[in-house]
Amino acid sequence: MKCPVKPLVAISRCLLGDPVRYDGRSRGDDFIVKTLSAVFEWAPVCPEVAIGLGTPRPPIRLVSRRDGVHVEGVDDPTRDVTGALGAYARRFAEAFPSVRGCILKARSPSCGLGGLPVFSANGDVVREDGVGEFARVLSEFRPGIPCIDEERLRNAQQRDAFVRNVLRATGNKNGSLVGQNGRFG
Ligand code: SF4
Repeated sequence: MKCPVKPLVAISRCLLGDPVRYDGRSRGDDFIVKTLSAVFEWAPVCPEVAIGLGTPRPPIRLVSRRDGVHVEGVDDPTRDVTGALGAYARRFAEAFPSVRGCILKARSPSCGLGGLPVFSANGDVVREDGVGEFARVLSEFRPGIPCIDEERLRNAQQRDAFVRNVLRATGNKNGSLVGQNGRFG
């Protein structure tokens, strides 16, 4: 069953198979590419490429500083892209006001929705509740927007709930893409 108007969903480009990861690879997800592409219209986004980091690029990570968590180069802490990622999240939110949901890459210092390691300046893990900077700022500009990562999408209940919430946010009150057994997919 297809929705007459596909809801617009922001998605990390690497999950669609684009080779934009820091190591030049992709993380294409079959379920997203083959199944969810029939349901959602994509607003693909790679914040790190969008702010000009290039591919491949040196890895970045979350680092706890006195004034908060920063996103810095692993090998070069002076390469601080916190502000650039946040500014891009704001521009993205403004450019895509009709986005009704987000599917973002787990464990990324830019796209991760939670549970990321936060390092000290010495490289020790001091917390494991970090959020990717793009995801964090985007959620400030779009509070309450349904978001999920590819790992939670593998859980049927969380996947169904995400699809329903996006449909409801699109104005589909009963979530008509959910199948007769009450589940999507
Ligand atoms: S996780 Fe986000 S920033 Fe990293 S490659 Fe994928 S889309 Fe780009």
